[in-house]
Amino acid sequence: MARLIVGNWKMNLNPGEASVLVHRLEDKLAAKSDTEVVICPPFIDLYPISKELDKKKLTLGSQNIHYLDEGAFTGEISPAMLKGLVSYSIIGHSERRAMGEDDKLIAKKVAAAFRNDIVPVLCVGETLADREHKLSTKVVIDQLTADLAQLTAADVAELVVAYEPVWAIGTGKFAKPDEVSPVVAAIRQTIEELYGEDGAAGLRVLYGGSVNPDNCAAYLKLPGVDGLLVGGASLNYEEFAQIAKVAQDLK
Ligand code: PEP
Repeated sequence: MARLIVGNWKMNLNPGEASVLVHRLEDKLAAKSDTEVVICPPFIDLYPISKELDKKKLTLGSQNIHYLDEGAFTGEISPAMLKGLVSYSIIGHSERRAMGEDDKLIAKKVAAAFRNDIVPVLCVGETLADREHKLSTKVVIDQLTADLAQLTAADVAELVVAYEPVWAIGTGKFAKPDEVSPVVAAIRQTIEELYGEDGAAGLRVLYGGSVNPDNCAAYLKLPGVDGLLVGGASLNYEEFAQIAKVAQDLK
């Protein structure tokens, strides 16, 4: 399966700064590759970037969506507005879960994405306390089961799940590959149990959490890992391009 490298810019870069980063990144990226490189800038940057982006090198994603297509929701952006503009949307990021998003809301957002031809990059992951209590796999499976409640097997076959241990995000404390493997295996097994082989066949699973050019290969080599969700390092075009190159060059 083609690898997927997703950059989450979070709340950084205005349109002018975003344009500079995109051009610098494109200069470093290979023109042709099986690896899809996705950037998820803030909403305000999406439209201008879409006009100048080299679609052979980069794909656009959003960092969030609303769960409805329109309505009286001041300050929100709907998936219907993003349809055709972005191909992916990060949903259920731990930074949004920490602001109060629960699995019920996330399930509605995941369904809203599919309704608008946007592939969700659904983030799941345990806290440090969960891990210390040996609950990592249980927490992730519970999130996954609840978040996918409204989907069909055909939807799930398109889905991207990012396993992001909360304690590894933005901390520099990345998970050891042997801590990632059992959780990734459990994600795949759960999808197969819930949606059958057809659902599981197309599922892509990413690792995210303090990924950098030095540690990325170890995750990409793990069975069942199809790519990476990169936060901080995606704001550095040299580092992000290096991560993409590692993914492109791996057999
Ligand atoms: C993220 O924001 O999803 C993330 C993984 O961040 P970082 O790479 O900075 O840990």
